[in-house]
Amino acid sequence: MKPSPKIGLVSLGCPKALVDSERIISRLQAEGYSTVSTYEGADLVVVNTCGFLNSAREESLSAIGEALAKNGRVIVTGCLGTEADFIKAKHPRVLAITGPQQYDTVISTVHDLLPPPHEPFLDLIPPQGIKLTPHHYAYLKISEGCNHRCSFCIIPKLRGALVSRPVNEVLKEAEKLVASGVQEILVISQDTSAYGVDINYAEFKWKNLPIATRMTPLCRALGKLGVWIRLHYVYPYPHVDELIPLMGDKQLLPYLDIPFQHASPRVLKAMKRPAAEIKTLERIFAWRKEVPELTIRSTFIVGFPGETEEDFQYLLEWLEEAELDRVGCFRYEAVSGAAANKLPNAVPKEISERRWHQLMATQKKISERRLSQRVGQKIDVIVDSVRSNNIVARSKGDAPEIDGKVFLPPGINLSPGDISTVQVERSGEYDLWAVPI
Ligand code: SF4
Repeated sequence: MKPSPKIGLVSLGCPKALVDSERIISRLQAEGYSTVSTYEGADLVVVNTCGFLNSAREESLSAIGEALAKNGRVIVTGCLGTEADFIKAKHPRVLAITGPQQYDTVISTVHDLLPPPHEPFLDLIPPQGIKLTPHHYAYLKISEGCNHRCSFCIIPKLRGALVSRPVNEVLKEAEKLVASGVQEILVISQDTSAYGVDINYAEFKWKNLPIATRMTPLCRALGKLGVWIRLHYVYPYPHVDELIPLMGDKQLLPYLDIPFQHASPRVLKAMKRPAAEIKTLERIFAWRKEVPELTIRSTFIVGFPGETEEDFQYLLEWLEEAELDRVGCFRYEAVSGAAANKLPNAVPKEISERRWHQLMATQKKISERRLSQRVGQKIDVIVDSVRSNNIVARSKGDAPEIDGKVFLPPGINLSPGDISTVQVERSGEYDLWAVPI
């Protein structure tokens, strides 16, 4: 038997790009290719790029350069792939370039450059596909693209308008993930609350019953799978209120990732943010009243063109009132092709920098304060890794990679993916320390 052709994959960018990489790898492995983790061992390297921010474009270019230097046979896909001339100018030796979500083109390019083995071992592929995340959690992408036109963002240009996956397909994938041992599903898209709007919330059959391609019915069905379900990229449209009782009933994790980006109405208007007109503070207070353990995570941009000191102070005061649990912050960066680049009154870099530090310092205190309220409580955690000096876990309020951690002492009989109830002993700025009960 001939050895199987070997593919190396470099995956950059957001969880959505990671899901694309998983699809490419799943398909190639199904066809009998094998994957390797070194440049030297690969017959061909696929680089899945990110093109969102200029810094991400630079990182993508340098990853392509590294793959070319160490292997030499490289194809490029992903968001930066929409700018083939830009890539070719810097790296003329790249063999082929495709854009985001062009799985079929990526696969046929791989076939051309590195033909598949004659007898594909189709049954070697696990039914849930290949996951690039650890075994116990997985991202579930429910749609591609976005119908909004936020002025700082080029995702709709790169990825096109919203295309929702039929709800029965999404649920089938979720069921396979659970059957393969996944304990936590992270629902992702560009705009999770808009799910289904592009196909008029079309109904499909699931378990012999009709179900609409819409956020709430999807969440209700996911909630029956018996694993942790975490929602990302939710915009605060009115129907998000329907999710809060599902969190109260423990069908969904009490966790909402809402990218607010700013609080000042003037800046939000200039950003052209969806649901910007909705009174978010009142909503947050009402949600917390119904589900007190709700964790809210968000991201913000400081230094957006035209952001005055008054706007920034408004944002800080809003943060103090909202007391969000988890916050990420970006300094505004002009992304090539974004409408915001044409806005007047650019904020000088040093001011953006100062505001970033101020916001992070404010949030650090808020996070510290909120986490200290957890001391003495019994909480459920999911184990991510077991090390010689401690066990690293996460609470229901911590998404992997982006939020905090819960550290447990070593020597407890727990493995990655186990869910256990622990007692919080100590809190820090972003993390907790707990002991088994
Ligand atoms: S909602 Fe706005 S920021 Fe998010 S992908 Fe759509 S256009 Fe970009």
